[in-house]
Amino acid sequence: MDLKKFKITAARKKKSLHAFLDKLDNLVPDDMQEIVDKADAEMWQETDCMTCANCCKTMTPTYSIKDISRISAHLGMKPKDFKEKWLYKEAETGDWMNKQQPCQFLANNMCTIYEVRPVDCAQFPHHNLKPFDLYGDTYKANLMHCPATLVLVDKVKKAVEREYDMG
Ligand code: SF4
Ligand code: SF4
Repeated sequence: MDLKKFKITAARKKKSLHAFLDKLDNLVPDDMQEIVDKADAEMWQETDCMTCANCCKTMTPTYSIKDISRISAHLGMKPKDFKEKWLYKEAETGDWMNKQQPCQFLANNMCTIYEVRPVDCAQFPHHNLKPFDLYGDTYKANLMHCPATLVLVDKVKKAVEREYDMG
């Protein structure tokens, strides 16, 4: 994964992709799910997370209490010590997040706690968590960090614009 090229492409496309996601708030094509499924399948054919790990380098997962308990047990630590060492509680949401980026568990582009990693990490980039048109704000935030999301939104935009007048 060429992350330098990704950052340039993301910056170049950001404005038009945001505008497309905003337009979806008012117009959702009938065959939206088919368009998204096709774009998602195509995107994974050309995206390799193993050579990327940009989410682990530039974002933080949210840790649930279950995540903290499971990971701290795996590391032979008390949850309290684990939180003190690695996490902070976000004031507004109360979510537990990493203090540092890249993630402390990333080594040689690999997750060293892969089997017990936070559910948030296992589910990222969350493309199937909600219908595409209800996830615009998350896509807007993530497409500057995640090549998979950038390619997905770009493919969906092109497919929708081919079929519908979005002007
Ligand atoms: S826990 Fe693992 S998968 Fe999650 S951000 Fe850290 S290195 Fe990445
Ligand atoms: S989920 Fe996105 S940012 Fe994370 S490794 Fe895969 S392509 Fe890269």
